[in-house]
Amino acid sequence: MASYRELLARVKGEIEEISSIDAQALIEAREAPLFVDVREPDEWEEGHIPGAIYVTRGRLESRIEGLVPDKSRPLVVYCASGSRSAFAAKALAEMGYEDVSSLAGGFVDWKRNGFDITIPRVLSPEQRSRYSRHLLIPEVGEEGQQRLLDARVLLVGAGGLGSPASLYLAAAGVGTLGIVDADVVDESNLQRQIVHSTDRLGEPKVLSAKRTLEALNPDVRVVPFEERLTSENVERILADGWDVIVDGADNFPTRYLVNDASVWHGIPVVHGSIFRFEGQVTVFAPGAGPCYRCLFPQPPPAELAPSCAEGGVLGVLPGIIGSIQANETLKLILDRGDTLAGRLLLFDALGTTLDEVNVRRDPYCPVCGDSPTITEYVDYVEFCNVPLAVE
Ligand SMILES: [Zn+2]
Repeated sequence: MASYRELLARVKGEIEEISSIDAQALIEAREAPLFVDVREPDEWEEGHIPGAIYVTRGRLESRIEGLVPDKSRPLVVYCASGSRSAFAAKALAEMGYEDVSSLAGGFVDWKRNGFDITIPRVLSPEQRSRYSRHLLIPEVGEEGQQRLLDARVLLVGAGGLGSPASLYLAAAGVGTLGIVDADVVDESNLQRQIVHSTDRLGEPKVLSAKRTLEALNPDVRVVPFEERLTSENVERILADGWDVIVDGADNFPTRYLVNDASVWHGIPVVHGSIFRFEGQVTVFAPGAGPCYRCLFPQPPPAELAPSCAEGGVLGVLPGIIGSIQANETLKLILDRGDTLAGRLLLFDALGTTLDEVNVRRDPYCPVCGDSPTITEYVDYVEFCNVPLAVE
């Protein structure tokens, strides 16, 4: 019976070993072998050889054929010091891999030589716990969660639609949320604008929302824009680089500004609107569907615009539509599922019905059409001082 030392010495005599310096020379000669890291997860997370594939020693035999089907491909197996990888190299040779070496001295020697390493981005233990229900879904997982944390979403409006949308996006871990809104919290907002509360009356909505959202999730940074979106500031605000815009605007001039800017910047817009018991939601994805102007090329003339009397809305309705907006936004970030691009969803809260209308890009659209006639921002005059639709 052999001791561990004897067994290791025997195995090392049966396999090929390669030094870090020789392996690095192969990389520099553009003959890089495929590195196979067989260490434990915590070792991998502290850094690994760039381009290495990762499979723990315990799963090597069962996983390697899926990861490396070509058995003639040169492989360099490594662990921390070169012992576990020696046994791994022997196993691979026995499985028919033709050109396998074990990295002598392992990752410790590689690092000591100052060669390149990659430190993978990993979720902290707190994040693993916070996002555990995302990590359990294969369509999200750790990679998807990292995408959410890296994502930048601009919310236009911190009102009825912006409240649920921003709350769910913050809870989901969307790392940067920009919010554009010039208003202060008013008592009449609180029936539906759940990101605010009674102790925030008179406070700017963007700051009230920032407090709520950052308290909900410390991973989230809220960038407040305490201003109304205009042709003067839209380029400055968009210059921050946003992945998705959530449009919860309550007025036509802002909607057209958001639309034109998003087409010119190629940013998808998740659009929502609400009035009394009816809500609408869709995605305007530049290049992949219509824009707002494909549906409504110009705002209605002032005399035909809806009554300037303040519109009513059932308090829960923006909760439903804004949550669908958050859903579409998460899918756009994760690049999963089918979005509402090309489909307008109509929700009727009284009948509890959901209808869908197909909408197409209009080749004659003044902004996203084949020969656009609008190429600069247009500031439409306000129809009246109160919202046309409720926010
Ligand atoms: Zn269009």
